Amino acid sequence: MIQVAINGYGTIGKRVADAVGAQPDMEVVGVAKTRPNFEARTAIDNGYPLYAAIEERVGLFEEAGMGLDGTVDELVEAADVVVDATPSGIGAENRSLYEEYETPAIYQGGEDADVADVSFNARSNYEDAVDADHVRVVSCNTTGLSRVIAPLGETYGIEKVRATLVRRGGDPGQTGRGPINDILPNPVTVPSHHGPDVNTIFPDLDIDTLGMKVPATLMHMHSLNVTLEAAVDAADVRDLLAGESRLFLIPESFAIDGSGKLKEYALDAGRPRGDLWENCIWEESISTEGRDCYLFQGIHQESDVVPENVDAIRAITGAADAAESVETTDESMGVGF
Ligand code: NAD
Repeated sequence: MIQVAINGYGTIGKRVADAVGAQPDMEVVGVAKTRPNFEARTAIDNGYPLYAAIEERVGLFEEAGMGLDGTVDELVEAADVVVDATPSGIGAENRSLYEEYETPAIYQGGEDADVADVSFNARSNYEDAVDADHVRVVSCNTTGLSRVIAPLGETYGIEKVRATLVRRGGDPGQTGRGPINDILPNPVTVPSHHGPDVNTIFPDLDIDTLGMKVPATLMHMHSLNVTLEAAVDAADVRDLLAGESRLFLIPESFAIDGSGKLKEYALDAGRPRGDLWENCIWEESISTEGRDCYLFQGIHQESDVVPENVDAIRAITGAADAAESVETTDESMGVGF
């Protein structure tokens, strides 16, 4: 069993912990928290050993009646691999801790690419992370783009990608984020940082991205235009994408008109936290005009990177090859509608 530590038990960390716990070959050795808040309570209730991320705060947990198993140093030492799911920038600060205990580490997309030896997307470059010491799972948006770019590139060749990313202002729990009544070009400069981030996975890809922020919390929405190297029928592209386990083609008959109904569908389907681990592509939006292919996809920012973190754990520990890992992850989490 691979012993996995989770440092940072927030939006991403708690989901990764549950996904790791569902794997036949992994165990959550513990989670580290900075504060004894509701998520710390949930970690204890879920049976995860709880560690203090900051030694000076041990007393706060005691005062809140939350028993600790130790501090983050002990957790990192005990683990075969640590998943760092702390806020952007903290992961880079934590790198020296993981190095001190020679524990391989996985970081999240909020970190700069140079925090790790490899930026990772299971569908696109799993092998690059095999036996690496520091791996960064790319952001929710880059994950969503990579999952579509990989099969299109392999099958048809890609001349150029243009993507407009309509991004949620904040996650549902991020009460301090906005905008609350506006539409922001964000960043206002072109390209947005997403294109260069996709290039950490596909170094030779020609891609331009534009970003916006809107008053929404449920999901991001991508409007994608991929110029292929040959003219292709839309029906062939649909068949190709339908064959990908982490792409969900929303059937027209479902009458899902946006993120709200998508989340409702996930909740009705019994998904934990209403998570949508797959890119949600409107099937009838997949269109072609000569060599140009177009589609709309919804990206659930809080969860699409979760199966990717599980695969990164197998890659970094050399526990399985890409196909084996993705299959095990998908089956144990229930990825794919
Ligand atoms: P979050 O704020 O929900 O969770 C971070 C957790 O880490 C919190 O519980 C916080 O208390 C804790 N923390 C803070 N400082 C810490 C420290 N020094 N040591 C240990 N824990 C500490 O953040 P999140 O949304 O889960 O984001 C985590 C990472 O994942 C970021 O790099 C982010 O960019 C990336 N990411 C986030 C999303 C998203 O939409 N939420 C999507 C993809 C990737």
